Amino acid sequence: MSDEKPHASGSIEAGDTSKRVGMESIRERGLDPEELREKLIDAIGAEFTTYYYYTNLRMHLAGHEDYKEITEDARLEDRAHFELVAPRVYELGGHLPNDIREFADRASCPDAEVPVPYDDEGGRLQVEDLTAEDVLEVLLEAERCAIRTWSEVCDMTRGKDPRTYDMAQRILHEEVEHEAWFVELLSMERDGEINPAGHFVRGEPGDAPYSTNRRINDSA
Ligand code: ZN
Ligand code: FE
Repeated sequence: MSDEKPHASGSIEAGDTSKRVGMESIRERGLDPEELREKLIDAIGAEFTTYYYYTNLRMHLAGHEDYKEITEDARLEDRAHFELVAPRVYELGGHLPNDIREFADRASCPDAEVPVPYDDEGGRLQVEDLTAEDVLEVLLEAERCAIRTWSEVCDMTRGKDPRTYDMAQRILHEEVEHEAWFVELLSMERDGEINPAGHFVRGEPGDAPYSTNRRINDSA
């Protein structure tokens, strides 16, 4: 009887909880799930640290309240990227590092620090000439690193791991949008150049793939 149900059994014994079909199916399609999992930890390490660093960068955009708002959207979406993929690490048999320092160190993108010497003792800047241009450039390059990272995850998982591919693709949608926002702001701020970007009111982080519907509904 069970012979008629081709997926009723496979390479893992019934009841064996030491292995996961969700990992073996990926391996059978030619992708090493352990390698992917480690790549994902590095990638969400960058999302998490970026969320942290954007908090501080945003604080240093006083007088540019519109820039702050856009930075806030990018910041919250990066936190959502961390949260979207964190469970996937566990599904692939892994875990987040117990030590947050280890997690931050293995992030796949550089720290998006405030780009001037910073006095951590007094918590104040040592130099007064931090400009919005400086901050926007850090923001832009952080988005570019994220695009490269999630494009690589899409390449790794395409046709092999539809679940991770779907997550990486959703994140990539938003990272590409983030780059467009900061290209627009930096080129205007620095060069007086017009590079329009479509920063409309955002819905929930992670909604970007469905943003067309959302925006139509929102404006109704
Ligand atoms: Zn992100
Ligand atoms: Fe981003």
